[in-house]
Amino acid sequence: MEVRAIVQNLKATTTRLALSYLAIIMVMSIGFSVVFYHTSSRELGRQIPPASAFREFSGNRLTVNYSPQVTSFFEDRIAQGRQNLLIRLFVLNMTALAGGSVVSYYLARRTLQPIEENMEAQAQFVSDASHELRTPLTALQTLNEVAMRRPKISTHEAKDLLRQNIEEVIKLQTLTDGLLRLAQRDGVQLKLAPVLAHEIVADAINAVMDSAQAKDMTIAETVPKIKLLADQPGLTRVLVILLDNAIKYSPEHSAITIDGSQQGKTALITIRDEGTGISAEDLPHIFDRFYRADQSRSTQHSHGYGIGLALAKKIIDQHNGEIIASSMPGKGSSFTVKVPLV
Ligand code: ADP
Repeated sequence: MEVRAIVQNLKATTTRLALSYLAIIMVMSIGFSVVFYHTSSRELGRQIPPASAFREFSGNRLTVNYSPQVTSFFEDRIAQGRQNLLIRLFVLNMTALAGGSVVSYYLARRTLQPIEENMEAQAQFVSDASHELRTPLTALQTLNEVAMRRPKISTHEAKDLLRQNIEEVIKLQTLTDGLLRLAQRDGVQLKLAPVLAHEIVADAINAVMDSAQAKDMTIAETVPKIKLLADQPGLTRVLVILLDNAIKYSPEHSAITIDGSQQGKTALITIRDEGTGISAEDLPHIFDRFYRADQSRSTQHSHGYGIGLALAKKIIDQHNGEIIASSMPGKGSSFTVKVPLV
């Protein structure tokens, strides 16, 4: 409803903007026509010969051949010329009106389209985010309402309720943190500077070491000392997101590898896992906000909200880079990040 109202509002704005463009075109066209008509009309008026043109001197005799018919002939021709001019200018302005309407509407659409897309995306974001927030909030409400209805509650049950409450609050925190990061990225100015790829990779591995160890997983890296032009915290965040997913969607005791290479003026960092993989239908959508592949929705331990990859993509886009996913369902996935070299 919200989104539709915004789109409706934008349609009205497009019409208003198109009318303003058309008004400018018409003011210019009519202004030009008025000036042109006056100038041409004055020039035509000057075609009537002055009385002196009818006087003739031969020797010292002055003959006046004044003929009212000649003057009236000229006046008729001039009046007709003015009339023709008026008709042509009228046709010209009508053409400008018709052509101008099409051009104005096209220009207005072109001007407003990026704004419209942005507003739609924002409205969609707010609506999706509210929907996602509602789930843990409803769970919290239901848990507490059910507990309140009980006449008695033991300490054990109360502790269990508190534990469940805390779980839902943690989900809410994860979600709001992710939303905040995603929203903040819009206004973030990247600080691109030369950074060493293997150092960023080491930082990212450190950040996820505890969760990898909790699943007894190994992370092996063979990233050479290549210099990238990147925003250090931003790129580290991307690698943490990818490693976090590799851990989340892989079985215990499996391995993750990180390779680095360079291709022309681009650095490539690839993270491979031996996890659940991503189906061919899901693969094109995993970078969409709030998208979660079905198998992960049913995985109870993966508290994901489909924000990580959207954020990673946004950061890499800001680097003018690329992030590519490929996967073999059941065998594992690989994510390659491409960023410019220094
Ligand atoms: P989430 O927080 O749900 O993990 P992401 O945006 O990080 O959100 O990922 C979107 C979806 O892509 C996940 O729900 C999961 O289905 C899929 N996905 C991402 N990385 C992997 C991976 N390494 N292995 C399997 N599936 C993955």
